[in-house]
Amino acid sequence: MPGFGHRLARYRIEAGAGFRLKHHDPADHGGVDPVAGAALLADGVARLSALQTLLYPQHAWALLCVFQGMDAAGKDGAIGHVMSGVNPQGVSVTSFQAPGPEELAHDFLWRVSRALPKRGQIGIFNRSHYEDVLVVRVHPELLERQHLPASLAGKHVWKHRLADIAAWELYLARQGIVLLKFFLHLSKDEQRRRLLARLDDPDKAWKFSAADLAERQYWDGYQRAYEKAIRATAAPHAPWYVVPADHKWFARLVVVEAMIAALEALGLHRPVIHPAQAEELAAARRLLADEDGR
Ligand code: ATP
Ligand code: MG
Repeated sequence: MPGFGHRLARYRIEAGAGFRLKHHDPADHGGVDPVAGAALLADGVARLSALQTLLYPQHAWALLCVFQGMDAAGKDGAIGHVMSGVNPQGVSVTSFQAPGPEELAHDFLWRVSRALPKRGQIGIFNRSHYEDVLVVRVHPELLERQHLPASLAGKHVWKHRLADIAAWELYLARQGIVLLKFFLHLSKDEQRRRLLARLDDPDKAWKFSAADLAERQYWDGYQRAYEKAIRATAAPHAPWYVVPADHKWFARLVVVEAMIAALEALGLHRPVIHPAQAEELAAARRLLADEDGR
């Protein structure tokens, strides 16, 4: 089956200059129909699983996937589906909520640094350090709770944070942590439909939060903050994927293919068995075989 990977480039942002969110259609489905999309997604989930079995034993590279998006953009569902075939022992998932007192007592990259994946692992951030230039930028009163010295909390704080994030992400790349950042790009209309669906479906009602309605009022502010964040931090070593998210199945397909492409680019292969190890294996095989009297 032909994959979808070759069409990924249109969603990948490696350079921020001139980036405009309005040039990206949240309802795009890449010309794929949902039935073909489901088959491609299943195939992608299997290929990702196979790649993880190569990532894990070499204990050198790690993959870090950051998920950002407005409420109901489908972060949880995308993470659940895309990772459904992967060995959970090789994955760490961290959800970042509003910071508590201990987190507020540290610099903003502290909590994300602690959650970085080990070598050989896939790390998933459900929300991330970007919240500190998104929700905090949209609600500047949140910045006041972060205990920054007054002389450092001036009007340049956003520009500085974005530069610090870009520098930190370059550091991660140089440490062998391959970073992918997914912005699940949802339309305001589709968010309305999904929030209504949460209210109407007893299985989903628990997901509804009055805060989601409150944040919806700040939609344009968030879109501007996302645009600025993507502009300032898109780089070849830390690309953003602007993932059309109005069709959940399509968003998942883009995410899984992006992860596959990133892992394939590492040229992973099965660990090489050195002659000394081969001898050890042969000896072990003899011992086990002898137990059976053979
Ligand atoms: P769902 O789509 O299921 O609602 P969610 O990611 O919105 O998932 P919640 O627990 O509802 O999960 O929300 C987490 C909240 O924490 C978000 O509103 C987010 O903006 C907020 N948050 C995360 N990081 C920060 C931060 N550094 N400062 C302030 N708020 C933050
Ligand atoms: Mg929420």
